[in-house]
Amino acid sequence: MSVPSDGSVESLAPGAEAVVRGPFERLRAAWRAQGAPPDVTARLVSLEKMQAWIVAHQEDIARAISDDFGHRSRHETIAAELALAATDLQHTRAHLRAWARPEARSTFWGFLPGSSRLIRQPLGVVGIVVPWNYPFQLAVMPLAAAVAAGNRVLIKPSELTPRTGEQVLAMVRAVFTPEQVDVVTGGADVGAAFASLPFDHLFFTGSTSVGRAVMRAAAENLTPVTLELGGKSPVVVHASYDAARAAESVAAGKLLNAGQTCIAPDYVLVAPDKVDAFVAGYERAVAQMYPRIVDNPDYTSIISDRHHARLDALLADAVKKGATIRQINPAKESVGGSRKFFPTLVLGATPDMAVMQDEIFGPILPVLPVADVDAAIHFVNDHPRPLALYYFDDDSARAEDVLTRTTSGGASVNATLYHMAQHDMPFGGVGASGMGRYHGFDGFRTFSHEKSVFYQTRLNGTATLRPPYGKMFDTLMKLFVR
Ligand code: NAD
Repeated sequence: MSVPSDGSVESLAPGAEAVVRGPFERLRAAWRAQGAPPDVTARLVSLEKMQAWIVAHQEDIARAISDDFGHRSRHETIAAELALAATDLQHTRAHLRAWARPEARSTFWGFLPGSSRLIRQPLGVVGIVVPWNYPFQLAVMPLAAAVAAGNRVLIKPSELTPRTGEQVLAMVRAVFTPEQVDVVTGGADVGAAFASLPFDHLFFTGSTSVGRAVMRAAAENLTPVTLELGGKSPVVVHASYDAARAAESVAAGKLLNAGQTCIAPDYVLVAPDKVDAFVAGYERAVAQMYPRIVDNPDYTSIISDRHHARLDALLADAVKKGATIRQINPAKESVGGSRKFFPTLVLGATPDMAVMQDEIFGPILPVLPVADVDAAIHFVNDHPRPLALYYFDDDSARAEDVLTRTTSGGASVNATLYHMAQHDMPFGGVGASGMGRYHGFDGFRTFSHEKSVFYQTRLNGTATLRPPYGKMFDTLMKLFVR
């Protein structure tokens, strides 16, 4: 069934509510019945088991994702799903004891010799909604953070990746009991029912429009949300930078997963006299990485016919409104019955074209001339805040200036994508590209309640703060109010 964009609960099929309610209540009952949350040793055991399961089942996972996509490069799955998840688990396991330790905070001198500490404790039962584009990694990394923090977890994979959903379920069943972590499957109706559950935290990765519905549903329960959304991530190439070198990096970042990456470069801003060099460099880089497209196992398919048609429509709209299309097809193949989509550049794109309005999420790249860096910054700032920004320039002062004057979830300088693979840095959006963050310590914090605790000592001076107020109180307040 279809769910109205407001995600209202009244419109839900009774079946969807039934799918999510049972597993949720089981997790909540187990949370309430537990004497204390799992200690750090128990959490570390779960994380180690997850890691071992992933290592042992990598070929099954790669096959499942490829089946779901029609074709997904095995190498891309190993790098962007399994290596990311495994190294994130290694990082979390190495640091969890330190993260979970109470943190001493300074005590305001008026309350000495009392002391202050921050205690991080699990939130309870948390929900994780997963999109289709990295269907394993985007389930496992939030799950690892939630488990590291000591929570019980309910996961909803995407309906577009059912085979990968089975792998996520198999891992969950192998490592956890259904009272610790469970998985529910289904489409938008199950997603809407899921978002209306009174979770202690809801972690959503997906589109901006569904993110809005999720936040609305969560507001009913005052459930805090992390929204990992998408958007149009710009590339800015300074006139002094070798345009062909930038193009190589942009092509690699753009064509990973055939452009179906939340932080993929969405469009390029380059000096007018460098457009040709960038285009030539991009075409060369594509031909080098993918001498063939259709029968190349390294090049991934578009997830569904609907998304393939959506990309076709973006190009048709651009052509109709006057843009020039440069399809890159080094071996002069025809797509045949596959869902492969040739890497395509769009020249002469204008703001009225859908390709400059919607997140592209495929191997189409508009290249636009901009007069200078100031004009590029204004262009970026005239649009919703992106998830990522990529700046190419060897002048570090200029790069810092661009970073200071633009607001994006994250950024890479002279590279694409790599900021998201740094486990010690938070990953997340800002504005329309999302709210909240995870990865490493920041993921642990997202799924923890940080409780401020003051410890009083037997001997202390706080009696002077109580009535009847005397001279000592007045003296103290004179010291404070100044
Ligand atoms: P989507 O929003 O269509 O679906 C995401 C998930 O939400 C799916 O599991 C879906 O079943 C579920 N869902 C659908 N309707 C729902 C509702 N009303 N309430 C709750 N859940 C609902 O997104 P998608 O097409 O699967 O993924 C692509 C989008 O995700 C792109 O916009 C991309 O940029 C974004 N994305 C962001 C990140 C990030 O880390 N920021 C990562 C990957 C993808």
